[in-house]
Amino acid sequence: MIEFYVFTLFPQALTSFLKEGLLGRAVEQNKLKIELIDFRNYGLGPHRKVDDTPFGGGAGMVLRPEPIIEALRATESRLGRRLHRVLLSPQGKPFTQAKAQELSRLSRPLGLITGRYEGFDERIRHFVDEEISLGDFVLLGGEVPAMALIEAVGRLGQAVIGNEDSLKEESFQRSLLEYPQYTKPQDFEGRSVPPVLLSGHHGEIEKWRLNEAIKRTKERRPDLFQAYIKENQAKG
Ligand code: SAM
Repeated sequence: MIEFYVFTLFPQALTSFLKEGLLGRAVEQNKLKIELIDFRNYGLGPHRKVDDTPFGGGAGMVLRPEPIIEALRATESRLGRRLHRVLLSPQGKPFTQAKAQELSRLSRPLGLITGRYEGFDERIRHFVDEEISLGDFVLLGGEVPAMALIEAVGRLGQAVIGNEDSLKEESFQRSLLEYPQYTKPQDFEGRSVPPVLLSGHHGEIEKWRLNEAIKRTKERRPDLFQAYIKENQAKG
């Protein structure tokens, strides 16, 4: 079972999201565990302060180290286990499907630390195992990145997805985007389903799908296509 511990100032932002769809069902059936930890509970003084002005001046507030580190330590000592501590930040390594797979295979539970305001005091970085970014843009907080990561990693966990075959051929699994998919109706406003998909010839369908996946990747993601070529050359 994959376990996530999310450190956030806005747990409510995640609660309804985590109840929905296959993820919600997996949590209900104890196939995934997701716990939200409000690190304001570890804030300083009667006002539970978690942030302060930046040394050296500048706009906004910076998250102080004590509440986050205290929250991490308290959670780890309650669990009796060390978390794989992930800092969500636009300065981290870009999140990929390969990283999602790697995280889904870890034996340690995942601790996701989400920031707000101007982000983290630099010293927090010394206490984490890695720093992950959702992409080259800046959000208001780390909650949306945490939800994206939980969904991407969680769906790879055993039995979260009903049909495991649906994971095998999808985009990025083999450095290719997924082939085009069609469902009913057979004709929609003059656009028909490619006849091969109606032929019942599995070999032909597989061949068509691979060609379409290659064509699509070459057109849309030349960088990924190069990786696919290299992988195939390595395989001989
Ligand atoms: N001043 C920070 C900087 O330039 O790196 C950005 C702070 S951002 C407004 C507040 C928080 O949102 C960050 O600490 C981080 O947790 C989260 N965040 C924003 N964009 C993100 C991204 N692309 N990936 C992951 N987390 C992000």
